[in-house]
Parts: sequence; structure tokens; C-alpha cells
Amino acid sequence: TNKRAYNFNAGPSALPLEVLEKAQQELVNYNGSGMSIMEMSHRSKDYDAVHNEAIARLKKLFSIPENYEVLFLQGGASLQFTMVPMNFLTEGKTASYVLTGSWSEKALKEAKLFGQPVEAASSKENKYRNIPALNDIKFNADDAYVHLTSNNTIYGTEWVEFPDTGDVPLVADMSSDILSRPVDVSKFGIIYAGAQKNLGPSGVTVVIIRKDLLEKANTNIPTMLKYTTHADSNSLYNTPPAFGIYMLGEVLKWVENQGGLEAVQKRNEEKAKLIYDVIDSSNGFYKGHATPESRSLMNITFRVADEELEKKFLAEAKEAGFVGLNGHRSVGGCRASAYNAVPVETCKALADFMVEFQNKNQ
Ligand code: PMP
Repeated sequence: TNKRAYNFNAGPSALPLEVLEKAQQELVNYNGSGMSIMEMSHRSKDYDAVHNEAIARLKKLFSIPENYEVLFLQGGASLQFTMVPMNFLTEGKTASYVLTGSWSEKALKEAKLFGQPVEAASSKENKYRNIPALNDIKFNADDAYVHLTSNNTIYGTEWVEFPDTGDVPLVADMSSDILSRPVDVSKFGIIYAGAQKNLGPSGVTVVIIRKDLLEKANTNIPTMLKYTTHADSNSLYNTPPAFGIYMLGEVLKWVENQGGLEAVQKRNEEKAKLIYDVIDSSNGFYKGHATPESRSLMNITFRVADEELEKKFLAEAKEAGFVGLNGHRSVGGCRASAYNAVPVETCKALADFMVEFQNKNQ
């Protein structure tokens, strides 16, 4: 039979099997239309329902207040690094960026093309092992926004609580932990996320933006890069990534069936704990990268005692059917990404494998 891999890929990453099977079933004939969702007009009745249901489902599941727009864009989270400052870091404005890893650095780099962003805090000196303390985050009351990365995919750290930035809009890149837990959306001006971890396949980027910000956005920029263009046309200004949005809608249904975000968070905590517990009880054989209070539930980063053993660990893990355990190419080491769709059993299998490997090799 068709055995599914122990998939710990960092993104694109595991999707729920039920969703893949439903898509497979509907692929050649969606809703009796005689064609797939990829082959029909994005102005058709069938597509329209898929599009609007995905928006409505996300609003409900993520408890998005009425005064926010949900947009489906393209260009990945990386284009949001550009669109945020292009729209809001207007002449004479400042913005503050919290640096917690490579993705926040990339966001800051883009902002520098548009104005004078400053560092609000940084954990770079500590090799990005931790999330800065909320008290250490500096920003100006007249900043256009404060930007942070809620989960650091490469270093394996995640914000537990978010700063209160008062009237300054808080902008969050939630690419690698959106929908992994409930979030108080009203604390944020903008939330954005590439879909390819917890939401669906790559190709669609979700942007959740407070409506009053749209009125303040720069109007003197290219049409496709204006949030207002997409907000005014319900993300149908041009052809949307229709298949990705269809898949996103199916993933949202799956999350609902899992019991919603609180249930999903509980399971994610259980999954991450299986692996962190092995690290913590290994007497230093495995060394976690993140400081315990900043540990990510999504990306578990660790090293094996010495380099030779680490190579052996990764090789044997691969042999045993574990996929995606190599750390990001920029930092090396090991990383297990346990996004929503990674089953508990897969994490249990890795935890068991790690214990067994230690027993054989120490
Ligand atoms: N932000 C974070 C936190 C990410 O993990 C990634 C991708 N791994 C990105 C941004 C870039 O996303 P994309 O490839 O969709 O541009």
C-alpha cells in the first residue's frame, strides 16, 4: 500500500492525508462541473463559493474581528517583507523591527529600501536562541508599525506572548505557526503567512489586515502591490492561486474537524513534548538550540553530541524513513518540524528512534 513518510519537512510540509484524498477525489470533476478547480474560471459560481467559504472559514476559525480584511495574495511571505513597508513606511515615517532570526532580518532588509526602520530588540548575540523579553522591546509612539516574526522556522523559537504596542500597529509574520494555536488577532494591525506550513500548498499568502490601515496606505505604488487593490476586489483583482485557495479551504475544514485551534494547540504541545523530553533527558547527548522558555512547538531544533555522531544520526534517521530532519542549510544541525498535519504517531516514532540511537551510540 501507499505508505506515508514520517514527514518532518520545514515547508512545504506535511498536509493532512484526508485533505489530499479529498482533493484527489475531486481533482478531475469538481462538484459535478466536469472539470477540476484548476480548469475553471475564477469568476465562476463554483470557484466563487470556494473562495468566499475559505475566507469565511478562516475568519471564524481564527476569530478574526469584523474590522479586518482577509486577503489571498501571491509572492509568498517574502513579498510581504516588501509590501508592508511599501504601503506603510511612507516618507518621514519610522518602523521598528524585532530581530529573532533570518526571516526577521530579511524583513528588515526590505524595509531599509523604503525608509529608516530601526531594531526594536534582537537576540542575534545569543545566536537567536531566545525571544527577547517583552520589556526589552523598544519602539516609538509614532512608528508606522512594529514588526515581529511569531515563529522562527530556522532557529526554532516562538513567541508565547506578544507585546502591547498600543496605537502602533503590530505586524506579524506568522508563516510558520499560524493556526497552530488561538491568537488574539485584535492585538495586530497585520498578520501575514505563506501557506506552505499550516495552511496548504505554497502559492497562496494569507494577509489579515485591519481595515483602518488600508486608508493610511501609500497610494503612489504599483497596483498589484497595494493592499487596497486586493481588499477592494475581494482578492479577485487578477487570477488568484485557485487550487491553493481550494486546498486552504479544505485544510480549514480539517482543522475544524480536529476540534478547532484549542484542540490543535493541545496536540501540538503533546507532539513537541515527546521530542523535547527526549532532548532534556539525554544528559547532553542531544542539545536543544532554543532556550526552554522560547521553544517552538512547530520547529524543534537540536544538535547531536558531536559532529560525526550527528552525521550518523541524520543518515540512520533517513534510512529509517524520517524525512526532513536536516537543519536549515544556514545553521546545520537537526530540525524536526511538527506542523499541525504531522500526526502524534510520527512524533512518537521520532522520539523512540532518538532514544534508541542514543542507547546504541553513547
Ligand atoms: N517567514 C518565515 C517565518 C518563514 O518560515 C518563511 C519560509 N520558510 C518565509 C517567511 C518566506 O516565505 P516564502 O517562501 O513564502 O516567501
